[in-house]
This record gives sequence, structure tokens and C-alpha cells, in this order.
Amino acid sequence: MVPSSIIKKKRNGAALTRDELRLWFDGYSSGAVDDAQMAAFLMAAVLKGMNREETIALTEEYVHSGQRLDLSGIPGVCVDKHSTGGVGDKTTLLLAPIVSAAGVRALFVSGHGLDFTGGTLDKLESIPGMRVRLTRQEIVYQLQNTGAVFAGQSDAIVPLERRIYSLRDATATVESLPLIAASIISKKVAGGCSSLVLDVKCGKGTFMRTAPEAEALALFLADIGNEFDLEVGGIISSMNEPLGYACGNWLEVVEAVDYLQGRRAGDLHCVTMELAGRMIYAGKKASSIEEGKTIAEEIVRSGLAYQKFLEIVGAQGGDTAVLEDTLRYAVPGTVGEVTAARSGYIAGIDARAVGEAVRALGAGRFRPTDDIDSNAGMVLLKKCGEYVEEGDALCRLQCSGRGGDLSASRSLAERAFTIHTHESVPVACILATIDGGNVQRLSVTD
Ligand code: URA
Repeated sequence: MVPSSIIKKKRNGAALTRDELRLWFDGYSSGAVDDAQMAAFLMAAVLKGMNREETIALTEEYVHSGQRLDLSGIPGVCVDKHSTGGVGDKTTLLLAPIVSAAGVRALFVSGHGLDFTGGTLDKLESIPGMRVRLTRQEIVYQLQNTGAVFAGQSDAIVPLERRIYSLRDATATVESLPLIAASIISKKVAGGCSSLVLDVKCGKGTFMRTAPEAEALALFLADIGNEFDLEVGGIISSMNEPLGYACGNWLEVVEAVDYLQGRRAGDLHCVTMELAGRMIYAGKKASSIEEGKTIAEEIVRSGLAYQKFLEIVGAQGGDTAVLEDTLRYAVPGTVGEVTAARSGYIAGIDARAVGEAVRALGAGRFRPTDDIDSNAGMVLLKKCGEYVEEGDALCRLQCSGRGGDLSASRSLAERAFTIHTHESVPVACILATIDGGNVQRLSVTD
């Protein structure tokens, strides 16, 4: 195979055969294709697209680059959930304990942050000692004994996807339906679960900005998932405003702990309960999604979910003492605030601008090799719809002082807030549902 001929073929918009794709990715694994050539290929794929067959072939290449977990010995339905990427989305941290406390086996195979969006692995790795690169045996053992596992791509699970994921992040090649679909579905297929609950994000703070784009991704994910015998359902949720209050790795862990202890933001609660209800129903521990939600509410209210969270983190080596007393965590070196330039109602908090501001603080990467500042991030002190007086604090920014740039972040954060003199109509959290390969719109989005 001559690498440039494959790149040229994709660049010219032609579909690649399964054999060509296999040769291409084998070449990347063996070193015959280098990062520059793969980056050129990915850009051609973003610009010229990949058809359904190519997407299935890519998904297979990712899965076959590692092992596929065999969970057949574990009783019950194993359920996974995936969000397509947003800002402030800490639902995975909440769903693992809630759903496993309901008796559903839950394996979450996640990734690091992509572009301006946060990544579940970065959040989890902010907990001292927490291990997410687990072996196959460790995953199966923990699923059997604790009922939930947080895992990442690794040498065992989709190693090829892991390499390409960070290359895509560095080369502006994330926003592509086929690349996103293969990336997500391969992780789930390799994880061995039989049911997947999706949270497809829609709005400024994600890759799918409009409802038609999000719906197209949802349907494509369901279609590719079904091809691999994965039952796929879920929701399309709004990602115009960050979800909850905290954006940044450790800060989001703290918000998750607060939530599990009963202190919670309305939008985070709405999305978490809908996903939990669906996972509990998919795991056959409820006879309807509504019943699943009721079970989830009770599990959080009783404190069971909080205890389960400590158990899961402890099982993966994480320091539970810092979760029980979050003030033990390192104190941020630099702290600042953004204040309201005028009085009025908060009409919008641009999630993308917040994501960029948080990355500028050091919470995300610009290059795959960048270190993350776990302490860096933003806490919203106001949410959309709230009234503020001129000079009121809108958000707090913090970083540990290494690499983070408070002034660059502050100007991005200032631009994120829109204040109007009149109240605006609140935007629904859940815009549509995805069931049986169909999308049902619940709300209109811009
Ligand atoms: N989440 C993923 O796991 N992969 C993508 O490509 C985008 C979001």
C-alpha cells in the first residue's frame, strides 16, 4: 500500500473498500503510516465524509485493535451510557453509582476531553490515586463485585481509537459524524455491554450545534450500534448553557459529590434522572422509564448512591478521604471572578465560550501531550434566567498557577454571559428522545 494513494482517494471523495481501510489502519499500527499521514487522512474524511460501510469498517478496526470483553458470565443486562461531548457534563460520575445501586451492571468506557469539551477520564483522574486504565480481568472482577466500572481506552480496549482520538483532538478533526460514531460505538462494543443509553448533546457547547445535526448523529449512532447488536436508545439534550454549576475536572467531581449528598442544579438533575431512568429500565430493573426515574430518585435521596460512589472510586484506587472532605484537596493558586456589567436577567451562558475559558485555565489540552491542571476551572454562580445586579459575581475562575492564564480566560468568560433587561423563555433540558431507531422531538431549539 502506498499511503499517499489512500489519502488521495479519500481527498477526492471516493469511498474506500474494507480491505483498503484494513491495510491503512494496520499500517498505522505497525508504523508504516505516520501521524502526519493519518492526520491528512482524517481531515479528508471530515471534509469528504465516509459512508455507512466505511464507518462500520472503521468501528471494526477500532474494536479489533484490542480485546472485546466477554461479559456473558455476568448475570443480567450490562448497560453503558455515552454523551457526545459537552461542557460541565458530570452525569457519568452520578449514573455509575445510581444505576449500580439499582442492581444494573454498568460499565462506562469513556475518553479524555476533546477540543473545548470536558472528558470523563480527566474528571476521574483528578481524584488522587484513581485508576481508569484497567485490565480486562480487573473490569470483569469489579463489575461482578461492585456493579459499576469507570474505564478508559487502553492497551486492552480500543487502543487504536485511543491514538486516533488524541490525534483528532490536535488536528481539528473531531466534528465528523462517521468519526464520532465509530469512536463512540467501538468503545461500547469492546466494553461488551448489550445496551447503550445515549445523551446526544445539541447546542453551542458541543459538536452538533443544531437539532437536525444532533438528530442525524443520534440516528447514525443507533444504526451503527444495531449493526454490532447493541440496543441503542436515549435522549438529545440541550448544551447551550453548561450543565450544572462546575466546569473543570476536580470542580466537577465536587459538584457530583454535592449532588449525591442532595445539593443539586435543576438542569443537571433533569438530565441525570432521565438517563438513570432509562438505564435502569434498559437493565430490566424497572418496568418503565418513569419507574426507573422513581427508583433513581430514591437511591439518591437515601444516600445509597453516595455510598456507592465511594465504593466504586475506592475499588479503583481513588482516595475516598478527599471525596468525604473535599477541602483536603489542593488549594488553587489563583482565583478570580467575573462580574455583571449591567443589571438584568441572564439570557445565555455560552457553553462553548465557557469550555474555551476553562481550557485556557489549564483544565483541557491544546496538544495531546499537554498536562492538565486538575484544579483549574470555573464555577457558575448564576444560571440562565436568574436576575443579577450590576457588579454581582457571575462566576469564579481558578487554577493552580501552572500554565493557566487567568486573564485570557477572564475575557472569554466575560463574553459567555448575555444579560437582558427582560426575562426570556427557559430552554428545555431534554429536546428529544431516541427510541427504536426513531427520534421524537419534545422541544424546539434554535
Ligand atoms: N465522544 C467520543 O467518544 N468520541 C468522539 O469522537 C466524540 C465524542
